[in-house]
Amino acid sequence: MRHARAIMGVDLGGTKLAVGLIDGELEIRDRSVAPAVTTSIEACLADIYRRLDEAVAAYGPVDAIGVGTASMVDFRAGRIVLSTNLPLRDVRLRDLLAARYRVPVAVDNDANVACLAEHLRGAGRGASEMIMLTLGTGIGGGIIAGGRLYRGVSGAAGELGHIVIDCDGPRCQGACPNSGCLEVYASGRAMNRAALDTARARPDSTLGRALAAGEEVGGPLLSRLALAGDPLAVEVLDGIGEKLGVGIASMVNVFNPEVVVVGGGAAQAADVLLGAARRVVAARALQPQRDEVRIVQARYGPDAGLVGAAALALVELFPDRPAAEGSPS
Ligand SMILES: [Zn+2]
Repeated sequence: MRHARAIMGVDLGGTKLAVGLIDGELEIRDRSVAPAVTTSIEACLADIYRRLDEAVAAYGPVDAIGVGTASMVDFRAGRIVLSTNLPLRDVRLRDLLAARYRVPVAVDNDANVACLAEHLRGAGRGASEMIMLTLGTGIGGGIIAGGRLYRGVSGAAGELGHIVIDCDGPRCQGACPNSGCLEVYASGRAMNRAALDTARARPDSTLGRALAAGEEVGGPLLSRLALAGDPLAVEVLDGIGEKLGVGIASMVNVFNPEVVVVGGGAAQAADVLLGAARRVVAARALQPQRDEVRIVQARYGPDAGLVGAAALALVELFPDRPAAEGSPS
């Protein structure tokens, strides 16, 4: 019989810090969410300690701590290399937490932990070959190959948002020196831009009227309107889904996955986005890959970070446990 585990999951995002108690079946038993402290490295770490101290006092002893963070992570060293929105650079978070709480700790980036959550208990359950795309401000990626997360030489693999779909396209975001990456066309930021451009170009549309009325016009409104059937919003989002499909077609050709799971806060109108993406993959990807792949919506929404952090701890710290159990059916 499997030992019942109690895992402390930590979702350290660019704006919020969520801490939760998660069981061995990846069910969240308790959680607290508060804004992340981003003023300095010392203040950020002190806040993490304070929140974990409170959680330990509330939950009692746990078997392990798993951390997913919106940062570049050297997984083997348990080190946060760099973070865009947090003041964390060269922080050995795994060793710091292991010394303080005296339990095993695993740390990885948020895209990888979301991938593990979907692989263990979500839309990719039972698949030995799986691709995960997280549509947020950027596009995060995760790769399951042979039933395990593929990390590359230094843990930096899986940057699927930086697959180029137009080599003469616009400059990519942030630290990426490339141009025409998928992220430029299908991320949350791209949806914000598309919504605003459309609203300005079509003042007589629902989007245009929302802009004139002073509403916040961006990806969330675009997705809500598309889900409600607004024809122009559907058309715009369908175009973004087609770009997503062009990127996914390359991934399908290269990795021959059973399933591509798409999640993240910018994927609310998944029916529209994925409908377009499936159409493009069917037309552009190679056989037999294109006939074998399923492109599906993620199971976990805002919980992906916490559940994924616990999934990371289970997979990495208790390897006696099978990486994935059961089948999707
Ligand atoms: Zn890029």
